[in-house]
Amino acid sequence: MINVAIDGPAGAGKSSIAKAVARDTGYIYTDTGALYRAVAYHALSRNISPDDSKAVTELLDGLEIKLEYRDGQQRVIADGKDVSDFIRTPEVSMGASKVSAVPEVRAFLFDLQKKMAAENNVIMDGRDIGTVVLPDAQLKIFLTASAEERARRRFAELNNKEGISFESILADIIKRDENDMNRPVSPLKQAEDAVLVDTTEMTIDEVITLIKKMIKETEEKEK
Ligand code: C5P
Repeated sequence: MINVAIDGPAGAGKSSIAKAVARDTGYIYTDTGALYRAVAYHALSRNISPDDSKAVTELLDGLEIKLEYRDGQQRVIADGKDVSDFIRTPEVSMGASKVSAVPEVRAFLFDLQKKMAAENNVIMDGRDIGTVVLPDAQLKIFLTASAEERARRRFAELNNKEGISFESILADIIKRDENDMNRPVSPLKQAEDAVLVDTTEMTIDEVITLIKKMIKETEEKEK
């Protein structure tokens, strides 16, 4: 199997890019952030604070999280319920950042990610894929962009539908980066053998083309 790991900070465009590349290459796109979001959503919907690591850990006992694919789209199932449409709110984003610092949560989601990559050609995006989950991935990319550019893209994507200001999006992005880079377990960092792609001044199409080229080269090498 060929495994492509894409890590990087919040809002770097990992998921839009990985989705498009997966569609064009036939790889399975695995969005690991959705798993942490599902745990956070599960906690919040039971009135458990994502800051309460003890209660969050207790919640894992008996919880079943699964990934399914419908029409090529990843769906996250938590305890039999498809939660995919409820995990994109700012509250769940921040909650995911909090629960992801709990070692038991990371251990709980580890096998699921490993299994996906063992059974499929995957493009897996997250924070610790190249460093911890798939250290042997044949291609590792660290995708980044300046915090302002990432906030600008997120703001444009939301199209002011939710009435969230640019400033609050930027503040959230900076806070999540800080949480993700400074946690003791599996912090966000570039793997030594990852290729750095800074997309601040690139269009999404340029990034997609570049990554497809890297995958082709990787496949050639693996032949
Ligand atoms: O990628 P996304 O923004 O959906 O991830 C939500 C949160 O989940 C991140 O802020 C990060 O804290 C956490 N995460 C992680 N490790 C991963 C993927 C996501 O810690 N592999």
